[in-house]
Amino acid sequence: MNIFVYPGSFDPVTNGHLDIINRAVKMCDKLIVAVLINTNKKPTFTIEERVDLLKTVLAGRPDIEIVSFSGLTVDLLKKCNARVIVRGLRAISDFENEFQMALINKELAPDIETIFMMTSINYTYLSSSAIKELAINNGVIDGMVPDCIKGKILEKFRYKQGESNGNLFNT
Ligand code: ADP
Repeated sequence: MNIFVYPGSFDPVTNGHLDIINRAVKMCDKLIVAVLINTNKKPTFTIEERVDLLKTVLAGRPDIEIVSFSGLTVDLLKKCNARVIVRGLRAISDFENEFQMALINKELAPDIETIFMMTSINYTYLSSSAIKELAINNGVIDGMVPDCIKGKILEKFRYKQGESNGNLFNT
């Protein structure tokens, strides 16, 4: 069985991630979307929330599995019997970091390959951070995340706005 792993923070999942997922799954028998528990990006959504959003979006897809993990990506692949890491590339700015990670992973596990998929043109500027920036400032996120999770994402920021309004009020 040809298993691919698509690791990331997914904080939250965007239509850019989904585009990579939908294209990658066509190249393997099973795609494992692996959500990193402790990312150094200090996630806004908890690990449970990030997994839950992915599960909502990818419900009824027997060829896609969603897991959370900590530690090294290559160790997860070995555990799952997978040989391919999938990553997406949007701009040259993504390249340096991805290049470094791919080389480190190759050093750690020579049998594991990282494959890179170019973003689709419509999603070039789409990132989880952009969604969060828009959501917290009452911007429109239509078309950037699937409709079925839009409400949940905005809800999270309504709560956060409440927090920051509270702070403003107190000072
Ligand atoms: P990480 O913290 O591991 O970078 P992200 O959730 O930010 O996690 O991204 C996971 C992967 O998805 C990365 O390879 C990233 O480049 C890719 N990705 C994110 N957004 C897009 C997009 N709009 N188009 C293509 N790839 C994307």
